[in-house]
Amino acid sequence: MGRAKHLGHRVIAIMDRVGVAPLVRNYHLFYTCVANSDPAIRKAVRDLGRFPSQKEIDRVIDQFCPEANDSYTMRTHQNIFLGTLDEFVQRLKKEGVELSSFNDVIGRVTNSLAQPAGGGRLTQDVLSKIAEILSEAGNRRVVATESLLRQLQENRNEVDALRSELIELRKIANTDSLTGLANRRAFDDKLSQLMGQKTHFVLLLADLDHFKQINDEHGHAFGDQVLKAAAQVLRKSMGDDIFLARTGGEEFAAIVPDASPDQAFRIAERLRLSMQANHVRKNKEDVAVTISVGLAQSRSFAASNDVYEAADMALYQSKHAGRNRVSGHVSANEITSDNRYRLYSGTDS
Ligand code: GH3
Ligand code: MG
Ligand code: MG
Repeated sequence: MGRAKHLGHRVIAIMDRVGVAPLVRNYHLFYTCVANSDPAIRKAVRDLGRFPSQKEIDRVIDQFCPEANDSYTMRTHQNIFLGTLDEFVQRLKKEGVELSSFNDVIGRVTNSLAQPAGGGRLTQDVLSKIAEILSEAGNRRVVATESLLRQLQENRNEVDALRSELIELRKIANTDSLTGLANRRAFDDKLSQLMGQKTHFVLLLADLDHFKQINDEHGHAFGDQVLKAAAQVLRKSMGDDIFLARTGGEEFAAIVPDASPDQAFRIAERLRLSMQANHVRKNKEDVAVTISVGLAQSRSFAASNDVYEAADMALYQSKHAGRNRVSGHVSANEITSDNRYRLYSGTDS
C-alpha cells in the first residue's frame, strides 16, 4: 500500500514534469510504464518527450494498455450490450411475446442511450442494429401469426365440412331410403333410449295385410309405391310429433308418448281406417290396402325387447283374427281369463 502510494506520487510527478494532462487514461499509461519493467513501454513513453499532444499519448495507450482507453471500453461495452440485446430478442421470439407492447420501453432506452450526456455514447451503427433486430423479430412474429391464423381457419373449415358430412351420413344411416321414415336401427336405438329413461309410451306395430299378394298381382314397383303411400298415411294420421319407423319389409312402428291404452287404441283405429280408405291408384284401377295393428304399453315391461315382443304378439292376434284389426297386449293385473291379448277392433276383411 505504501509502495503503491509512493509509486502514485512518482507517476503524478513524472506526468507533471513532462506536461501530460491529468486524465485517468494518462495516469494509467504512466503508472504501467513506471510499474512495468517492459522496455518497449518505457521506450515508447520516453519517445513521447515533453508536452506530447493527447493524440500522441492515446496512440501509445492504444498500443500498450488499450483497456485504459475510453473508446476501447465503449466498444467492449457496446459489444456486450449487443450480445445481451440479441439474447433478449431471441427470448422474446421464443416465448412468443408481442414485441409491440415493448415499443415504448425500447424507444425510451434507445433515446437515453443515444444522449451523449447519458454516458452511453452509442454509435449510429449500434442504434440501427437494435432497430434491425427488433423490426425483424416483429416481422417474423407477424408472419408466423398470420400463417398460424390461416392454418387455424383452414382446419376449422375442414372440421365444419366433416361435421356436415357426418350429420348427413348419420341421417342416411338412420333413414329408410324408400319411405323417408326412420329405419330399424334408429327405431331400436329410440326404443332402448326411452326404456332406459323409464319414459311411458305405447308401442304400435303395423303390418300391411296380404302384401305379398299385392306384389304378385301388380309387380314389385307398385308394391314399393304402396309402401310409400302407407308411410304417408301413417304420418298424416299420427302427426309430426310421433316417432315413426319402417322396421321391416311392410312393417311399421309408431311410438306414442304418454298415451293411455284407450288413447293409443283411438290413434291406432284412426290409422287402420285411414289406410283402408286410402286406395293406391294403378293405371285406372284403385288398389285397396289394409293394415293390422298390435299395441303394448311400456309401463308393463322392463326391457325394450319385451315391449316389442308383446306388441308383435298383439299384431299376430290381429292377423289371426282375420287382419285389418287392432289388438292390444293386456298387462298381468288386467288378465281375468286365459286371454292375454285383447282384440280392440276389426272388420272382416
Ligand atoms: P300378412 O297379411 O300375413 O302380413 O301377409 P303378407 O303377404 O303381407 O306377408 P308376407 O310376410 O307373406 O309377405 C311380405 C312380402 O313383402 C314379401 C316381400 O317380398 C315383400 N316385401 C318386403 N320388402 C319389400 C319391399 O321393399 N318392396 C316390395 N315391393 N315388397 C317387399
Ligand atoms: Mg304383411
Ligand atoms: Mg310382415
